[in-house]
Amino acid sequence: MNLNRRHFLSLLGATAAGLALENYAFAQTPLDPQLISQADPQPIGTAVLPPLPYALDALQPYIDAETMEFHHGKHHKAYVRNLNAALDKYPQLKTKSIENLLRNLDRIPSDIRTTVRNNGGGHVNHSMFWKIMGPNAGGEPTGAIAEAINNSFGDFLTFKENFNKAGGGRFGSGWVMVILDGDDDDDNRKLKIITTPNQDSPLMEGKYPIMGNDVWEHAYYLSYRNSRGKYLEAWWNVVNWEEINKRYAQAIAVNNDDD
Ligand code: MN
Repeated sequence: MNLNRRHFLSLLGATAAGLALENYAFAQTPLDPQLISQADPQPIGTAVLPPLPYALDALQPYIDAETMEFHHGKHHKAYVRNLNAALDKYPQLKTKSIENLLRNLDRIPSDIRTTVRNNGGGHVNHSMFWKIMGPNAGGEPTGAIAEAINNSFGDFLTFKENFNKAGGGRFGSGWVMVILDGDDDDDNRKLKIITTPNQDSPLMEGKYPIMGNDVWEHAYYLSYRNSRGKYLEAWWNVVNWEEINKRYAQAIAVNNDDD
């Protein structure tokens, strides 16, 4: 546990101590380590559509501006709106981060649980997605994630092929994601490629999403039509390894903090 986390826990503990919640046993819930090291933490409990960190046409020719406009300005915006509308029914839930709610879906009131799952998942997934892409990006991975990829898959090409194959094989809508495999106390944890249906997040299974690609048709249909494979291949040209390295470090920190 680092100093920042201690400081954050003390701050959060002071706030949480004053809250008495009926439907959601926060006292038993591990505090969300993801909030600690984020450079720009979202307001707790209320979703906000993050601005795109680049222009709508910045990812061309790999992702076209109209796709970005609709994907961010319509789809993601709707997830945010629907999530907040659901949480409006239970204001006490807004004292917790969206990530914490997703880690504890079974504690969400049943009448809004599916809405929180789909729209909270959509919000968190897309908030990651915009940041792990960028202009003048792509190419070979760098830093610690490059080592982890080689250690887990042999080389980058094999990793990329497995990732694309998993994304292509996801029936219907969903995501292809990378998480840390194995138990939290394993010192030699490897990366693992998984897919999730709909807007499900690895957070729902207690795993931190290090990177992921959106394989919903809305992510690629305008440019690539039904050719998901071509989109998956092109996507590597906009992957922001610097941001993914930050998330990889966060995935390790989350696990160490749980010890
Ligand atoms: Mn999407």
